[in-house]
Amino acid sequence: MELEGKVALVTGASRGIGRAIALRLASEGVRVAINYNRSHEAAEEVAAQAATLGAEAFTVKGDVGTREGGETAVKAAVDRWGRLDILVNNAGITRDMLLMRLSEEDWDLVLDTNLKSAYVCSKVASRQMLRGGWGRIINISSVVGVIGNAGQANYAAAKAGLLGLTKSLAKEFGAKGITANAVAPGYIETDITSGLSEEIRQTVLAQIPAKRYGQPEDVAEVVAFLASPRASYVNGQTINVDGGMVTF
Ligand code: NAD
Repeated sequence: MELEGKVALVTGASRGIGRAIALRLASEGVRVAINYNRSHEAAEEVAAQAATLGAEAFTVKGDVGTREGGETAVKAAVDRWGRLDILVNNAGITRDMLLMRLSEEDWDLVLDTNLKSAYVCSKVASRQMLRGGWGRIINISSVVGVIGNAGQANYAAAKAGLLGLTKSLAKEFGAKGITANAVAPGYIETDITSGLSEEIRQTVLAQIPAKRYGQPEDVAEVVAFLASPRASYVNGQTINVDGGMVTF
């Protein structure tokens, strides 16, 4: 329980990977602010689940793709507990389309939700972390941000942008007790991937040496490590959680 009493904000935590991260941190005694955009009931269920693990938790509504929404989410955690130690920038969406038909609207929406959100939240959260002399910024990127993907130019650009942001924050805050790292999941079974055809699922599965799709808990475990004091000398890194799909 090295993280007992720390305060975390997890964006987009009402379901999927964000939910698993919030609950994993709660199991370590972390007090968790659960950000959501639309699904109030689902977010409340995550907070209730966190409480059964013995952790304090509450939900905060806000579109973190906007400055107001991101700032509101961070401020809510700080107002409640007077500090913020761990920020997990998890909120994300896809709007897949080949470049020739990719609308400016879908470009902007995906960039705002996946990348601008991390800029907004990290900017406000880092002020609190600097005050406490300790902090963890963990950005949920994607293997698509590392290798690219046809039909996902907007998503790949946003997720690659997160990697550049992560490395820069690591350099800006490295001497202040704050680390910034990225986690790049491969194919994780959540709502975001549930709409893919069986054909695509089988093609992807054939590329995964582990011969199984990932689960949200696989990602949450790595986030919990990066958040812990045990990871204090890991900074500016991207850790793929993909069953061995992408190797360099
Ligand atoms: P998901 O769709 O189940 O969860 C995404 C969450 O983000 C949802 O709760 C959604 O409401 C929230 N969200 C979306 N826009 C928001 C906004 N503007 N403000 C606040 N919350 C917002 O998908 P997931 O698989 O759990 O994805 C979580 C993260 O992991 C995303 O960043 C996604 O890009 C990334 N990721 C997922 C996979 C995968 O295979 N599932 C792979 C790589 C990366």
